[in-house]
Amino acid sequence: MKKTVRTVGFKAGERNVFLHILTGCNLSCSHCYINTEQHGTNMLEKQQMEDWIRLFADTKKRTNIIFLGGEPTRHPDLSAWCAAAPGANGY
Ligand code: SF4
Repeated sequence: MKKTVRTVGFKAGERNVFLHILTGCNLSCSHCYINTEQHGTNMLEKQQMEDWIRLFADTKKRTNIIFLGGEPTRHPDLSAWCAAAPGANGY
């Protein structure tokens, strides 16, 4: 089955929820909005994210959850949260 990858949609009737799940990053881009020395090591706790996913679960509205950082792929729970998000379809 062909998988469709979507970027952030700004469509009527949809909600976009941007969640910064950690501050750390392994890169140091010159255009970064966080100073390299200020990235820190803060990470969102597993229970907090699960509470937020439940909060935004609404079968009547499409909700696009966008995970941000720092570098969000460095969070050890990211793949589990993607799978657990309401209506998750694997991207
Ligand atoms: S958070 Fe993004 S912009 Fe900043 S250093 Fe990391 S990859 Fe670059």
